[in-house]
Amino acid sequence: MKKIFKSLTLSFVIAFTMSIAPTLSAFNTETMSVVEAASKKTFKTFTVNSVYNTSTKITGKGLKGATVKAYVSGKQIGKSTVSSSGTYSIKISKKKKNTKITIKISKSGYTTRSKTITVKGSSSSSSSNSSSSKYVYANGGISTSKIYHKTSKAHNMEGAIKMTESKAKSKGYRACKRCWR
Ligand SMILES: [Zn+2]
Repeated sequence: MKKIFKSLTLSFVIAFTMSIAPTLSAFNTETMSVVEAASKKTFKTFTVNSVYNTSTKITGKGLKGATVKAYVSGKQIGKSTVSSSGTYSIKISKKKKNTKITIKISKSGYTTRSKTITVKGSSSSSSSNSSSSKYVYANGGISTSKIYHKTSKAHNMEGAIKMTESKAKSKGYRACKRCWR
């Protein structure tokens, strides 16, 4: 009887040790990674301004002295350092609209941060593009006034003629003042 009790106790001890051991080691690894992360600071300020297909630089704000690098599909396209005023400017060659550029900011003792932006069409050309390809609704049917509107049913208009804004303009139509205030 005594012998059985002893071996039972032993097996309990073994079982207990085995169940607690992995928990302990997991706890240690977790604690270590937390300490490691806590020892690195994070960039509070990191901004990237809009980049257009006419841009020859990427600008933004960051921590002074930090290194900023720009990448397109993993390839570095330029780098710079954040100035004492907290701004940076990375020289780049012009990139096509919709190109994805990743900008990384790094400094020793800091956790590297990255942002990905998409190259926009230049503000001037995109607005002229949208106006020439934008559809408008010219007065048609019984109305003879040379005005075009935003929608086909504007002001209960009937028989509106759908055309691009540039075509409407070339035909002598003018924008409705009530639709475009
Ligand atoms: Zn109108």
